[in-house]
Amino acid sequence: MQHHDPIAALARLHREFGEHGGVNVSIEPSTTFTVLDPATMPAIFQGQIGHDAGGCYLYGRHFNPTVVSLGKQLAALEGGEAGYATASGMSAIACTLLQYCDVGDHVVASDTLYGGTYALLETFLPRKAGLRTDFVNTSDLAAVEAAMTPGTKVLYVEAMSNPMLRVANIPALAEIAHRHDAILVVDGTFAPLMMSAIPLGADVVVHSLTKFINGASDIIAGAIVGPATLQGELMDLHHGALMLTGPTMDPRMAYEISARLPHLGLRIREHARRAQFFAERLDERNLRVIYPGLPSHPDHALLRDQMNPGFGYGGILCLDLGDAERAERFMDCLQNQDHFGLLAVSLGYHDTLMTRPAASTSSELSAPALERAGILPGLIRMSVGYTGTLEDRWEQLQRALDTVQPPVRKDFR
Ligand SMILES: *Cc1c(COP(=O)(O)O)cnc(C)c1O
Repeated sequence: MQHHDPIAALARLHREFGEHGGVNVSIEPSTTFTVLDPATMPAIFQGQIGHDAGGCYLYGRHFNPTVVSLGKQLAALEGGEAGYATASGMSAIACTLLQYCDVGDHVVASDTLYGGTYALLETFLPRKAGLRTDFVNTSDLAAVEAAMTPGTKVLYVEAMSNPMLRVANIPALAEIAHRHDAILVVDGTFAPLMMSAIPLGADVVVHSLTKFINGASDIIAGAIVGPATLQGELMDLHHGALMLTGPTMDPRMAYEISARLPHLGLRIREHARRAQFFAERLDERNLRVIYPGLPSHPDHALLRDQMNPGFGYGGILCLDLGDAERAERFMDCLQNQDHFGLLAVSLGYHDTLMTRPAASTSSELSAPALERAGILPGLIRMSVGYTGTLEDRWEQLQRALDTVQPPVRKDFR
């Protein structure tokens, strides 16, 4: 399989200097831009001459040079033709769906999605925009095939699902989508750099930049990467979902995020190296651990085929402590006694973040749906951080395990 090299692609981008030759791009805070030749105004307004073709940026919600610069960097990272940044991951997802779907159109989506995306597709867009969605287990390609209809416009999946870390078979899903004249949209939030969905066949990649890509848990942001035409469509003055609903990114935030992209690769590698280390040690203790870097994970081989080499198997792992009470005692030890990490939702922070999905990020699922998905009450999700020494962190983890004495694998049915 042809692999994308996101680090090389980012480095190959034309270097953009700051306004005074600064080594960083400039923050352009202006919300309006001067039209130097009055005669060009009508053509600029009709989108006939863009900011890159003798026109100007016009208005900040439309285009902004700092945000355009971040969009180019994200497109390079993903191996897409163009990208633009949005005010949140949810706005990237909503605008993508609104751009590609009209009233009555059909979406086939994975049945394990980020809670907000699930609510958007299950309740909000059907009610507000007449969309219809069928949710299927997208690891079951026959089920995906069966769900596709002549009205299906979008097949929607996450590159790596939360919290079971199932990996989307991107080439196979793209083939199914394209054969039915639909597009494949992939949420790449859980697997930045390690999997490049567009070179694997996807049409559009959306991101919550709030997580690994930003890396400091201090900015809500998102991005859409796709074909060259998508940017103009999203920003069309009459039909553009991003232009007309308005959640474009603020240039100050675009600068902050672009300043963190150069060390994204280093961070992802270290998140993954530590997650792999913990997963292997926990596995040796015969605990029920879920991590795609373990050969026992159902998608280990699939991920190995699809991943870009050198970034590891991701920074998230799950551990089943058997029951809710033990899981909570475990997190209490790790946060309040050992300072191993923090009990908090979200992911991709420099410290380890821990949650119990059944009670938090997956709590919108019904009890039978949780059970079917394997999201048992004792399951803990960890977004493994890279602060402190790995040796100290492993000692802390072992101390907490010795305190709560979790059941071993054979104790699970
Ligand atoms: C957090 C998250 C989102 C939503 O992103 P926001 O930046 O919070 O709007 C979407 N998809 C996934 C997989 C996420 O983890």
